[in-house]
Amino acid sequence: MPGEWTQVRLAELKAEMAAALPALGIDKIGVASASPFTALKQTLVRHRELGRESGFEEPDLDKRTEPALLFDDPQSIIAIAVAYPSKLADAPKSEPGARRGILSRSAWGEDYHHVLRDRLARLEAWLSERLPGFRAESMVDTGALVDRAVAERAGIGWSGKNCAVITPEFGSWVYLGEMITNVPFPPDEPVIQGCGSCTKCIDACPTGALVGPGELDAQRCVSFVTQTKGFLSDEMMRKMGNRLYGCDTCQIVCPVNKGLNWTQHVELRPDPEQAKPLLVPLLSIGNREFKEKFGSSAASWRGKKPIQRNAVIALGNFKDASAVPALADVLRDDPRPVLRGTAAWSLGRIGGAGAAAALREASGQERDPEVSAMIREALSSRPAGAADGQAPNR
Ligand code: SF4
Ligand code: SF4
Repeated sequence: MPGEWTQVRLAELKAEMAAALPALGIDKIGVASASPFTALKQTLVRHRELGRESGFEEPDLDKRTEPALLFDDPQSIIAIAVAYPSKLADAPKSEPGARRGILSRSAWGEDYHHVLRDRLARLEAWLSERLPGFRAESMVDTGALVDRAVAERAGIGWSGKNCAVITPEFGSWVYLGEMITNVPFPPDEPVIQGCGSCTKCIDACPTGALVGPGELDAQRCVSFVTQTKGFLSDEMMRKMGNRLYGCDTCQIVCPVNKGLNWTQHVELRPDPEQAKPLLVPLLSIGNREFKEKFGSSAASWRGKKPIQRNAVIALGNFKDASAVPALADVLRDDPRPVLRGTAAWSLGRIGGAGAAAALREASGQERDPEVSAMIREALSSRPAGAADGQAPNR
């Protein structure tokens, strides 16, 4: 039984586990105590009071901070990190008439939830072979615990001012997962390296979502907003640029990440056409085609609607007049008000005679009051002539 293992033997086993990491497909491992995350709970309560949650989190703050509510007699938490690519080799060009959007690096390659679950299962099997009576409960992202808080306590990395866990070895280009166990492995020390006086991520955030060092207002964060399904504000749409899913700006500017690109995990290598897809074909993509093209990516978890809405926004931000016919089709024919209203916004942003004609035609037919208001707004604010501009292409 685990209770018969001495701390000396468990320390040896930890060293063996570290040596086995390449075979397990894991890049870094650390052990945290399973005691409650008391300080984190206070932060989460404050965060909730200030309305800064994304809405995607586990709602029960006790479950998020007390491992004992999730697992019978927890003795330790093993945190794992798997590094992922940050660079796109042979990236297709986004050109006039063939504009492209971009998926966040966290959605490149195979869905990291699957990859991390595979790695945690391998680790669990490895430990079960060596520890009779071993029990564990693994989780990735959607589990109750806060991955980043566990990783920080387990010495995987420090919590950056951009709210990412930054490892000294791999930067913040790491996926995190954890496993609560019934074995009292000796815990690791937290990483003491920190951000120092750097504020690059806070300065670069397009929406001011980093409201302080390590403090994120998820409601203003492009990464979360791209995953929502409703209408967005004019300000947010302008600032989203051509992002279809997620946002990497506060990681790209981080000096610790400079030059780091991790390609050792074959499943996580990006398909350039998936990572940087053409925008116009997305507007009319069918369910089956969407599944074939994006179903393997973490970006597909909310379905095609948010990505299509974001593609409409990106085309407006590019101000590329060649997109007007496709946007006019969406405005006239798409059954979803959010898509029609957003297409009106984009046509208004592009401007020109073709966009104005499409908006006028739609204004006589539209029955949804919110979409009608967006059409009127687009007609009154559209620029005099079509322009061909550039959206940020991170
Ligand atoms: S992900 Fe983008 S929007 Fe969110 S905090 Fe970072 S830079 Fe700002
Ligand atoms: S950009 Fe600077 S402040 Fe932000 S996480 Fe990186 S090191 Fe820290």
